[in-house]
Amino acid sequence: MDNGGLPKAAGFASQIPFDEHRVGAAAVYCSDGRYGEQMDEFLHTGLGLPRYDRLALPGGAACLAGYLMTSYHEKLALERELEFLIKAHELRRVVLIAHQGCGFYKDMWTSGRTVEQQQAADLRQAAEQIRSSNRGLSVEAYFGRRVEGRVVFEDWNAEPAVALGT
Ligand SMILES: [Zn+2]
Repeated sequence: MDNGGLPKAAGFASQIPFDEHRVGAAAVYCSDGRYGEQMDEFLHTGLGLPRYDRLALPGGAACLAGYLMTSYHEKLALERELEFLIKAHELRRVVLIAHQGCGFYKDMWTSGRTVEQQQAADLRQAAEQIRSSNRGLSVEAYFGRRVEGRVVFEDWNAEPAVALGT
């Protein structure tokens, strides 16, 4: 097969078969690699979303909440990336995940709130913003907490499930 003149290198062959079917879902989460495997397991097994599209960036969806500390560029970039995936991959579901001890919030001014309260407010605001420009899209929020050497994912959806995607 013509490979455009590229050398036929003996690359690493993944043992995981390729499945071309999309599941119509994306996750926006923090790029903190210590939580990567657990996030994957939660999305695959906990939420039943294999092959979900990934948007990993420091703080996850927090930049959508529009801090002064976050550059406007970051906010716009995430909005654009998300809009692209929503349209091009026909997403029906977007999952936002924050986590305990997130470095993004280190030294952040949270005006009297605890970091977790701030994270909850940010997830809510980010979810509302995504919903407002994408009718019919289900947007969910979760929080990864360290408990006895493991990560437990809590359901942080403020609204009941029936209110999602309306
Ligand atoms: Zn983080």
